[in-house]
Amino acid sequence: MNNLNIDEQNLDVILAGVKQQGIDYLNQIHERSTASSGDVEIIGDLNEQGTGAIEALKQFNQRFEPIMVASSGPRYWGFVTGGTTPAAIAGDWLATIYDQNTQSANGGGDISATIELETIQLLLSLFNLPKDFFGGFVTGATLSNFTCLAVGRQWIGKQLGKDFAREGLSGKVNILSATPHSSSIKSLSMLGLGSGNVIQVNVLAGNREALDAADLELKIQALHGEPFILISSAGTVNTVDFDNFEAINALKNKYNFWWHIDAAFGGFAACSPKYSHLVKGWENADSITVDCHKWLNVPYESAVFFVKEKHQLLQVETFQNSNAAYLGNPMENFSYLNFLPENSRRLKALPAWFTLTSYGKAGYQEIVESNVENALQFAKFINENPNFELLAPVRLNTVCFSVADESLVSPFLTKLNASGKVFMTPTFYNGKKGIRAAFVNWRTKEEDVELVTAIMAEILTEL
Ligand SMILES: *Cc1c(COP(=O)(O)O)cnc(C)c1O
Repeated sequence: MNNLNIDEQNLDVILAGVKQQGIDYLNQIHERSTASSGDVEIIGDLNEQGTGAIEALKQFNQRFEPIMVASSGPRYWGFVTGGTTPAAIAGDWLATIYDQNTQSANGGGDISATIELETIQLLLSLFNLPKDFFGGFVTGATLSNFTCLAVGRQWIGKQLGKDFAREGLSGKVNILSATPHSSSIKSLSMLGLGSGNVIQVNVLAGNREALDAADLELKIQALHGEPFILISSAGTVNTVDFDNFEAINALKNKYNFWWHIDAAFGGFAACSPKYSHLVKGWENADSITVDCHKWLNVPYESAVFFVKEKHQLLQVETFQNSNAAYLGNPMENFSYLNFLPENSRRLKALPAWFTLTSYGKAGYQEIVESNVENALQFAKFINENPNFELLAPVRLNTVCFSVADESLVSPFLTKLNASGKVFMTPTFYNGKKGIRAAFVNWRTKEEDVELVTAIMAEILTEL
């Protein structure tokens, strides 16, 4: 009997072992280090017969498991790192077990795409967005920005009487933005639009990253009626600043442009009546990016795009998986492969469906409000300690700060991260070296912030 046949007979032992290991891991995630304490040597040769899954698990546990970091634990505040809710884990396991190739729906025989369409409706409902958006799942906000900007590119072509998807790009496409995320710039490179082609819109005066709408209008007028793409921000990564969407709406009524919003994590402001004003007016955007593996707390890789349904033909022209011109209504014989970059794909929506169904609007309002409380509590410590300095006001869930003596920023952060109790990332803001702490994990509690601030105060005395 070969190892595969043996594993087939041992399925219950294999999965029970993994289940118990998962429970143990999650129950001790508060104690696990946020810093990796070593490395492993890469093995280059595949063994002839294989080991079987039980032996492979042993090997994994010997070589890799001890140095896996608690990145989905309560004190991993680097980048914008979400965790995983219990329901999301359940959905993720089932997505693997059922292993659907999520494509067609509407009677096409594949219920998994119907689950994805339903999950999009649930997300629109969570964000109080209107139902005139079409959406789908991609691997992350980078690919969501890519998808949205690709449809924007096709829209620009239409304005010029061209079909860029078929004919290839010609001429220069105007892109306007104030503080785009690096992944939008990367998307412009991938789309042939040119990462160096962004026309810089000024930010508002006074330590802001949000665009100055008056300057935006001047930049628009300088285009003399040429169509353009506006990349706007619902939550910049450094200071979580939001562009003024009502001001952009007013300009949209006057000028012809594709309006994209990167709301990767800031879109979750819509979940709380306390913060929903930050995204007021976003419902009129042509396309919106939202990450799910951040504040929705589902496992990597998960994000959604929302594109206005009225642009569906442009989307199909861009992503159709056939050389024939698309005939008829794209929602008949619907298949996701005609709407987004991937063809074969897993049932990415299932973890999101599980967590949304399990915790509802109230559950997400609570996660968002509690994470903002974490940020405010942490910022209070920074403000009250003269050895630290806030680099920007806390608008939502992120604290951007520095050490008063700027030369200590790097040694301080190195020591802090080496403690294994917390992880933060370096940044550069307003001409200063800084540090960012982003709160998007449902597990983070007041005690976690207290523990970290105590360690921070101690490290300062040691420098
Ligand atoms: C994280 C982030 C992205 C990129 O997201 P990935 O999920 O890493 O691809 C894009 N935009 C913003 C505002 C982000 O915070």
